[in-house]
Amino acid sequence: MDSIFQYMTDYDFENVFLCQDKKLDFKAVIVIHDTTLGPAGGGVRLWQYNNEMEAIEDCLRLGRGMTYKFAAAGVNMGGGKAVIMGDPKRTDREPVFRALGKFINRLGGKYWTGEDVGTTLDDMEFIRMETEYVITLPTYLGGAGAISPMTAYGSIRALQACANRVWGSDSLEGKKVAVQGLGNVGSSLVEQLHGLGAETIVTDIDPEKVRAMVDQFGSTPVEPEGIYDAECDIYAPAALGATINDQTMDRLKCKIVCGPANNQLKTEAHGDRLEKKGIVYAPDYIVNAGGTIYDTDRLGVGGVSHERGKNKVSRIYRNMERVFEIADRDKIPTYRAADRMAEERLAQIAEVKKYTDRLEP
Ligand code: NAD
Repeated sequence: MDSIFQYMTDYDFENVFLCQDKKLDFKAVIVIHDTTLGPAGGGVRLWQYNNEMEAIEDCLRLGRGMTYKFAAAGVNMGGGKAVIMGDPKRTDREPVFRALGKFINRLGGKYWTGEDVGTTLDDMEFIRMETEYVITLPTYLGGAGAISPMTAYGSIRALQACANRVWGSDSLEGKKVAVQGLGNVGSSLVEQLHGLGAETIVTDIDPEKVRAMVDQFGSTPVEPEGIYDAECDIYAPAALGATINDQTMDRLKCKIVCGPANNQLKTEAHGDRLEKKGIVYAPDYIVNAGGTIYDTDRLGVGGVSHERGKNKVSRIYRNMERVFEIADRDKIPTYRAADRMAEERLAQIAEVKKYTDRLEP
């Protein structure tokens, strides 16, 4: 990125805010991409960047991604993001996150924050000391608490929609699912798949996590690299990004790629190639929206309701169906159809909102 304004113009951003405090060694960026649907939401990332342009670009890219994620998920929030430049392991958490809270508060509710890479629920508590505009909070502060099981549940709903497309039935019973990564989401995914009668093939770079799945759910273990060669019906990436790449593409034996990991396609061309190979690809941000849907559900409706939140997450099934409809209608790969679904909703709601604006004094 050579010019911030050029990037903002190219991708239609609303604001970029730079925040600093020398004595606290605090440098942060807050981005608001698009507020058509509502106030901007998106987590705060604490990361050691090589330089400030890298930090700003990452924040812009992630903020725009949130616009699409919320729009496609049916959530009435816009896209935003914050990054703090620094060591993710820095120990001066209270002043750093309270400082961010002060800056977020100045925005008067135009940006709401949450957890992301390098930040924890404890950090959210520090932010909450300075501002109410925090989405992700522990239950004792009125938040939804741990959301990973809901991300896993949303992934199950997406898997069921994919199964219906490929085999004409939602049932995952007897299906072999290769789950890559057994962290917060992956382990819950394995548990829920087991409950639905699926067979799981599992891997993680941490052997303890693999053993736990084998012991609890009778999963079949494979080495981390072996997951790509596994004889399976479904490959569910739940670890890192870019696992669909030149090295792995032709090894996959599955009919479906559907998992919660972010940014699974190394490049868009890999999405095109999956399509050509006849493998159904469930776009990552449609699949993994469950946690975000559940987390934001309490806003504006007077608090957390597990039943209402879970119901909303369940609609990921319908969102996947809609992606397939658009892909068939426009003859495009599913990853493009997901973007189109988000853009169509943004355009429609902008049209709806113009009536409200006209009535305002
Ligand atoms: P996590 O850090 O708890 O788990 C990731 C797991 O992947 C770890 O157990 C790690 O050991 C393992 N791993 C790392 N490299 C690996 C490799 N090469 N092969 C196999 N395993 C490897 O993270 P998480 O919260 O479970 O998130 C998993 C993915 O889902 C991430 O891509 C994340 O961005 C995405 N996601 C998570 C949520 C959520 O609610 N937690 C929401 C949306 C998206």
